[in-house]
Amino acid sequence: MNQDILNRAYARIGALTPMLRDCGALCGAACCQTDADGQGGVHLFPGEAARLKDCDWVDRVVPGSFAPIMICSGQCDRNLRPLGCRIFPLTPVRGKGVRWTVRLDARARAMCPLVASGIGGLDPDFVKAARDAVRIVADDPEGDAFLEKWLELEEEYRKPLW
Ligand code: SF4
Ligand code: SF4
Repeated sequence: MNQDILNRAYARIGALTPMLRDCGALCGAACCQTDADGQGGVHLFPGEAARLKDCDWVDRVVPGSFAPIMICSGQCDRNLRPLGCRIFPLTPVRGKGVRWTVRLDARARAMCPLVASGIGGLDPDFVKAARDAVRIVADDPEGDAFLEKWLELEEEYRKPLW
């Protein structure tokens, strides 16, 4: 995906975060911690892996089922963090029409205290910016295909076996 598209998506979110104050203080930045086995990570949008090559806070980038997965040290240069981090705890979803929008990520339930208040509890400017950033990506065919795969994976977390 063209790097300009990523730049535009990043710029749309800018300094906005899920809350007006640092939500990481609520949970010890739970979404930035690896699992007990050292795994856990963020799927990278097309074109992002190349940007992270020289970042010393990136522990490793491993192949994922549909895109590379970045595993970080838990502390990053916020200007370079991937889009998946920038929109969390939101995730892309197709809206009622064909347009993309965002909803709370099912994977956030296990760790994110903001989930309890629903999407309405997040900063509305952040929600709008995340939605617009997703739409910027979706306007690119490779970006749109990536979002479909991302959604497919996220949907799996909405289908518990028990
Ligand atoms: S887990 Fe939720 S509350 Fe904690 S830092 Fe991440 S987005 Fe913020
Ligand atoms: S890149 Fe930054 S925001 Fe993303 S998980 Fe790592 S420390 Fe957290």
